[in-house]
Order: sequence, then C-alpha cells, then structure tokens
Amino acid sequence: MDPRWERVRAIVLNLVERCAVCGQRFDPEDLQALGRSRSTWAFRLTCRSCGVSSLIAAVIGEEEFAVSSAHSKREPVTERDVEEIRTFLEHFDGDFQRLFGYSGNGGGR
Ligand SMILES: [Zn+2]
Repeated sequence: MDPRWERVRAIVLNLVERCAVCGQRFDPEDLQALGRSRSTWAFRLTCRSCGVSSLIAAVIGEEEFAVSSAHSKREPVTERDVEEIRTFLEHFDGDFQRLFGYSGNGGGR
C-alpha cells in the first residue's frame, strides 16, 4: 500500500473532521480508501453515528490541497457509487482545479 495513504487520510480527516448531519467526529476507521488517479484520491466516509455516507475526492497538488465531497446521502454508499467514482477517476487526470472553479496560482506545474 502507498504510504501516502495514511498521510492523505489524516489530511482529509482534518479537513472534514465532523459529520455534516449529526456533528459526530470522524475516526480514521470511518474513512476508507477507494482508489486514486494521478493526483486525485477517493475515499468513502461513513458516519458511524447516523450512517450517512459520503464519497470524498481529494486532490493532492504540489503544495495545495483541496477536498470535495462528491456525494453525500443518507443511504449507504453502494457498489455502484464506488464504481462511478472509480470510473470518474480513471477518466480524470487532475483537472480538479478547473472543476472546483478556483484558479490555482503557484502550482509550479
Ligand atoms: Zn452523522
């Protein structure tokens, strides 16, 4: 396993921190790595308190970090959702900055 997972996971947890629905603090075990493309990492985040699942897409840039909750709903995330985000990652090669609509300056790319 990529050792960066742990670090990325810690960053994501730090950014998300609490369930948007019930305010429960997330634990590292609540965040499950799904896969990654070149610079995008996908996670499934499940609140153990209220059961809300979210798919989290995190973009790891050179120095910047952006996280987006791609999906959020009360039902458990299904395999189909997971497939969707995997497909999304496969066809996606790092244009998240455009997707998020911010102009990243100083990427040094
Ligand atoms: Zn919750």
